[in-house]
Amino acid sequence: MEELKVFAPATVANLSCGFDVLGCCLDSVGDEMLVRRNDLDQIRITRITGQDLPLEADKNVAGVAVNALLQKLGSNQGFDIEIIKKIKPGSGIGSSAASSAGAVFAVNKLLGEPFDKLDLISFAMQGELLASGNAHADNVAPAILGGFSLVRSYCPLEVLSLPVPSELRMVVLHPLIEIKTKDSRSIIRQNVSLQKAISQWGNLGALVSALYTEDYGLLGRSLKDEIVEPVRSILIPYFQELRELVSEKGALGFGISGSGPSVYALCKGDANAELVKEEIQRFYSDKNIAFELHLSSINEKGVKVL
Ligand code: ADP
Repeated sequence: MEELKVFAPATVANLSCGFDVLGCCLDSVGDEMLVRRNDLDQIRITRITGQDLPLEADKNVAGVAVNALLQKLGSNQGFDIEIIKKIKPGSGIGSSAASSAGAVFAVNKLLGEPFDKLDLISFAMQGELLASGNAHADNVAPAILGGFSLVRSYCPLEVLSLPVPSELRMVVLHPLIEIKTKDSRSIIRQNVSLQKAISQWGNLGALVSALYTEDYGLLGRSLKDEIVEPVRSILIPYFQELRELVSEKGALGFGISGSGPSVYALCKGDANAELVKEEIQRFYSDKNIAFELHLSSINEKGVKVL
């Protein structure tokens, strides 16, 4: 096999109570990538359509992630990577993670799959290190594994896949203002009170249980974040109003997607998700902020060959 085209999905990380350890994979939003072998012993980003991003391999997360893979393998094989970018960088739905995950997935396939998915996550994390200064896995893990991923430990890396209740739908609003992950990380306080930690791990444990038991009510009650959201939400226009609106319309939960500015509403069933999407559309339309709105089911496959 010389060439491969893949779909590299968007992801929603943190999911309120799971800061840096939880994420899930979307179905209807993602990039496409074309990866082919070259005879030049080097990684080239040959073309990027849709967004203005660096073509230098060491400045593009796709190049950095593939280099990490090749270094581990001790291989000089060169690759040309073309990115059809549909996820806007700095959106909070894993734009950088999609490129890192898609690139290492495709290169691994073209090389005859020398690495397993956990290895691929660790290579893709090097792309995240470039993008945000932090090698977090809560976007790249669900992008590679699909579904919900829980990062139990970073050292050593241990990632668990959690079940996906079939009626879950995700509505994502992306106000078109850019918040760099680096900036939104820098405003987070480094210390957490015991009281807040207790409520956070109570909620995260309950959320995991709710996914296993398909308990949508418990899932909704668990989607809370008393640690990061109160600080970060001030960067997102109309955050509290949106929360009230979607909860009035019956969404299970609402919070910041990744580091923002995107926000997510998790809903049960298509009808409720459509309603929540329409209400957000109506509310945001007269706010003089350009935005994108997505409705997606949870993608259980992750990156896939097209
Ligand atoms: P997101 O949360 O949407 O991934 P980040 O702020 O984490 O956004 O990452 C975007 C940053 O990564 C930008 O500074 C962008 O220039 C850089 N970057 C480098 N390569 C890529 C790529 N292939 N796709 C997206 N962003 C990239």
